[in-house]
Amino acid sequence: MESSTFVLFGATGDLAKRKIFPALYNLFADGKLSGPLSVIGLGRRALTNETFQAQVLDSLRTFSRRPPADSPELQRFLLAFEYSVLDVGRPEDYRKLLEHVLRRERELGLPQNRMFYLSVGPEFFGPIASNIQASGLGDTEGWKRLIIEKPFGRDLQSARELNDNLSQAFREEEIFRIDHFLGKPMVQNLEVLKYSNPVLRALWQNRYISNVQITAAETVGVEERAGYYDKSGALRDMFQNHMLQLLMMMAMQLPKDSTPEDVRSKKRHVISSVRPLLEDELAQNIVRGQYAAGELKGKPVPGYLSEPGIPAASQNETYIAARLFIDDPLWSGVPFYIRTGKRLKEKSTRIVIEFKEPLSDIHNKHKISLEPNLLVINIGPEEGLSLQLNTKDPRRHGELEPVSIRHESGNPDLPEAYENLIYDAMLGDATFFAHWDEVELSWQWVQPIIEATEAGTLPLHPYAAGSNGPAAAAELLGEDHWWLDEETAAPAAQSETAKAVRQGA
Ligand code: NAD
Repeated sequence: MESSTFVLFGATGDLAKRKIFPALYNLFADGKLSGPLSVIGLGRRALTNETFQAQVLDSLRTFSRRPPADSPELQRFLLAFEYSVLDVGRPEDYRKLLEHVLRRERELGLPQNRMFYLSVGPEFFGPIASNIQASGLGDTEGWKRLIIEKPFGRDLQSARELNDNLSQAFREEEIFRIDHFLGKPMVQNLEVLKYSNPVLRALWQNRYISNVQITAAETVGVEERAGYYDKSGALRDMFQNHMLQLLMMMAMQLPKDSTPEDVRSKKRHVISSVRPLLEDELAQNIVRGQYAAGELKGKPVPGYLSEPGIPAASQNETYIAARLFIDDPLWSGVPFYIRTGKRLKEKSTRIVIEFKEPLSDIHNKHKISLEPNLLVINIGPEEGLSLQLNTKDPRRHGELEPVSIRHESGNPDLPEAYENLIYDAMLGDATFFAHWDEVELSWQWVQPIIEATEAGTLPLHPYAAGSNGPAAAAELLGEDHWWLDEETAAPAAQSETAKAVRQGA
């Protein structure tokens, strides 16, 4: 890896404190950052370097997976951080920043490689990019790269405008759009699982797969983010980006040793093959929900409309579920069920693959109760894999019994998503970032949902906080299938509990 200067816009903000400083520290402690480290933090408030370094240390103490031990190494890390005041709209601040960057490059003997990380509100992305260009910060003898956070636009048009703005200062291969789900180790593992296991590779297609379920469920409510969330909702906050990225990662098929370009082209193929939603089919394929008061872990919790800062008549969705199809030879006919929401019963991000049972008619004739084979890929909060198979239960006259073969990663000290992503961006490896084509095609796919929501033609289903979401979401799966939750996917618990849960018991 070539050394570089890390220029952090929004260095006094929440994301910098919770994720970016700890990620840099852990990369540093793991010896993954080559050469002298130079970080220039930017914010509106005037701070001395010392105060800024104290804030960085504070963040490490609170948020780093590896607690910072008092040592010369830690001092070396902290001294790499310097601070400059910058107001996004003031061109003279960029000129001062350029002088600062050049001075540090000279002092540390760094090549002119510059990483610009925009950890600020999205309304600033465009102005910052053009000021980087106009001030000369972007004229480097080495490389320049831009890391940006979500949200990338709030609909198709605004995303295109933003991209046009960024493109004036940075080329696509210089832009690294963070989707932190792509930094999660199990998501990064998906491709390896497929290409390194001939069994899975052979089964990864419509001939054998009955349906795929992708869930990202949160137990938290809107918390302190009412202002942002009420304008964004589950569709923009989670679905358009993280959920569709998970879909692409799950459905693409790559040869071993594929390049970042191969990954991008396969992902583009998946998202461009997702069947567009027709206006009159929207309500049968999309379920929007909003949490009402309920109970979580035995404690009453308020409904969305009673949360601080949420307008009493808000029609914003806190839950969204979709049924979609990928029209290509590999996936034709396989429904993908995707859902995400807040204030749900369990916190879990997972992909469940339900395999087909071609002999189900014969089983029915002989009244054999057979559970489907399931592959469960747990992405978080715990990582792991399980495969559900049917075996004979010798205690019950040889009746069939589903059992689960499980692997749990059990390693709490895994690198965090932000570590993986910042490291890749420093290497210039874009495999686990969202390419503009993916972002644009994702917005294109969700645009009819945005329009129907704005027109008020998509119903909003209430669900009790602490439940599994609105009952209407179960109907997406039809008569013979159901959402495979923690309790419904567990062997033995399956048929009866699943049916009861599905029937709303
Ligand atoms: P924040 O409000 O805590 O911090 C914003 C930062 O921007 C501060 O450092 C502030 O000084 C700076 N800033 C604001 N106005 C400025 C101006 N006019 N000129 C210069 N600097 C200015 O926000 P955050 O939570 O850290 O989020 C930063 C970005 O990351 C946003 O795009 C957000 O959507 C995204 N994001 C945040 C999280 C999170 O968990 N916090 C998660 C995902 C994405």
